[in-house]
Amino acid sequence: MPASQARLKALLKTHFGFDAFRPYQEDVCVAVTNGEDALLVMPTGAGKSLCYQLPALARGGTCLVISPLLALMEDQVLKLQSLGLRAERIHSGRERSQSRAVCEEYLKGELDFLFIAPERLAVPGFPEMLARKRLGLIAIDEAHCISQWGHDFRPEYRMLGSRLPSFRGPEGAADRTPVLALTATATPRVQKDILTQLDLPEATTFIHGFRRDNIAITVTEVPQNDRPEKIAKIIANEERRPAIIYVNTRKSAESIAAELAESFDVVVYHAGMTKDAREKTQNAFLQGKADVMVATVAFGMGIDKANVRTVIHAALPATLEGYYQEIGRAGRDGLPSKAYLMWSFADRKMHEFLHEKNYPDVSLLERVVQAVAKAAPDNRSREMLKEKSPLDSDIFDAAVEKLWVHGGLRVDSDETLHTGAVKTWKESYVKQGGHRLEQMGLMAAFAEGRRCRMLHLVRHFGDKNDSGKDCGVCDICAPDLSNFRTPNLSEIQQLSALFTVVREREGQSLGRIHKEAASKLDRKVFEKYLQALAKANFIDIEERSFEKDGRKVSYRSVRPLAAAFRESDLLARVRLPNDDETPSKSSPKKKKKSVAPQTKVTDPPSELVQESVESLKQWRLAEARLRKAPAFTILPDRTLNAIAVARPADLDALQAVHGMGPKLVEKHGKKILEVLAVQARA
Ligand code: ADP
Ligand code: MG
Repeated sequence: MPASQARLKALLKTHFGFDAFRPYQEDVCVAVTNGEDALLVMPTGAGKSLCYQLPALARGGTCLVISPLLALMEDQVLKLQSLGLRAERIHSGRERSQSRAVCEEYLKGELDFLFIAPERLAVPGFPEMLARKRLGLIAIDEAHCISQWGHDFRPEYRMLGSRLPSFRGPEGAADRTPVLALTATATPRVQKDILTQLDLPEATTFIHGFRRDNIAITVTEVPQNDRPEKIAKIIANEERRPAIIYVNTRKSAESIAAELAESFDVVVYHAGMTKDAREKTQNAFLQGKADVMVATVAFGMGIDKANVRTVIHAALPATLEGYYQEIGRAGRDGLPSKAYLMWSFADRKMHEFLHEKNYPDVSLLERVVQAVAKAAPDNRSREMLKEKSPLDSDIFDAAVEKLWVHGGLRVDSDETLHTGAVKTWKESYVKQGGHRLEQMGLMAAFAEGRRCRMLHLVRHFGDKNDSGKDCGVCDICAPDLSNFRTPNLSEIQQLSALFTVVREREGQSLGRIHKEAASKLDRKVFEKYLQALAKANFIDIEERSFEKDGRKVSYRSVRPLAAAFRESDLLARVRLPNDDETPSKSSPKKKKKSVAPQTKVTDPPSELVQESVESLKQWRLAEARLRKAPAFTILPDRTLNAIAVARPADLDALQAVHGMGPKLVEKHGKKILEVLAVQARA
């Protein structure tokens, strides 16, 4: 049944009322109508749905659509029904009798589209029911959810690989049901994984259209505390609203919204709210009753609002894929729109901290598996095992979740744990953890990057048909358009001095350079200057790492790119963020300790460090005994060592130590400082 293009065009008009295909739609429709398996990667809003809907009608029979979200399903079904098409859905939110009626319609051949969530395929009897008829087409929406390398992995999607073949007819048959996987977000690696998982080795891949000409991206380093004010400044301009502000935690969603609420119509959306509350705020934003949405990443999938003018990231996102999807919600109407990303090195440290929490050491996972294996069969509830476990409850929960995802444990719906069947869970877990770190590195590299922002994103997604041109509107392409200024005289002097230091200390870590040779500068100013020097191609900031105790420790170092320079070059090329001019007298803002010596400061003598390590270890052992937990779950060695080297004088300084985060500081901060103080007096 070769697809006649004229026939597809006619269907496009009669069923959907469209006069023409959007770019790339026609190629995909022809291929799928002709029975080819395909993977379609196009950004949100590009019109992917049509690429399965039209072939489905052209091929006849029922098209099975797998979709991860009930709301998304309901929305699509309504749209299709309103076009006069026979579309239905079966999901957990509907009455049994309704689902039964839908099954009957399906069996009688009365459905053009049947939407289900992937977990439906695990309901006994359902796959058998489906298999009683041959499907015309199988469409898998949000297909990146199948890949653990994606940013939105859903274990339920994993069963698709084994379930789908029984609905497709015999392998190799000319009329085998084709599968179309669709997603807006898949790097080349995720693309490959989708095809492997779904067993579609012959699939044609269509990867298109990632460039968004109407979004001007600006990336700025902003200290966390200054962000609400900066956001308010941006959206104060009415033309920059409606705006979505993405934050990383529920708490910051609430607090930023509260700060903005004085001046704007703000709503909040995050996963900690009830379903009703979320629906309410979402609708208020969609209907224009509120024009500022402060949300976590929970907001946005399947949202269709064309006139969003600005998307602000108030913190560094975890992945570039997520970031791209989120900024993609700006300017769907094609009008000029803005995306602002605010970040600082502290964001990276927060990511690393969360990563360590979310990916506990594999030995801890093994202990959980052993505990489950040893427990009597009627004693294997998650809660009971958690209570008995010496592990911190957060760590226990993270371990169980990861074991479940990677098949090391099975978890019943009543939360009974069983040892799992998947032998390779360890490998897969360690690999995924490493991959997550890599993704964070890529996100940071984007933020610190010095090439066109849009081009960077387009390359990341492997768009083959892209022009390869600079966008001309981002902060790199057009620094003067966005919020940058030339440095003032005292800043030039400081930049110049810093550049000299950097040339002398090529390859050293930024932390060390700051501590030993630039402590006159506030750390934030130090970072800002380095970014500015890097953007102007005077230096290169490199992400480096080394292995320690089997773990990757990452740090940044600098390399000078220019051998000689004049201060006039600095003036000509270096640009600093606009709204935080450093006072002309070089007075560091708030110094915690008395001003550090201006020349070289050596590390504390190593004997002293060694003694600190010993006292900290004694404290840790006592703490571990008290909590009946392995010592390293209290504080890993390398954090302990870092504390001994840094010898922080107060809680803020302690939190700045690599590996420490707010939670750890809250839990152990005071005691750690006591240990250090006692040892210093001794
Ligand atoms: P995606 O799934 O890629 O995010 P959708 O399939 O939801 O995008 O399509 C986005 C919008 O574009 C929808 O409102 C859809 O009706 C519209 N659209 C799709 N194809 C065409 C077309 N050929 N002509 C006009 N509008 C289209
Ligand atoms: Mg879609």
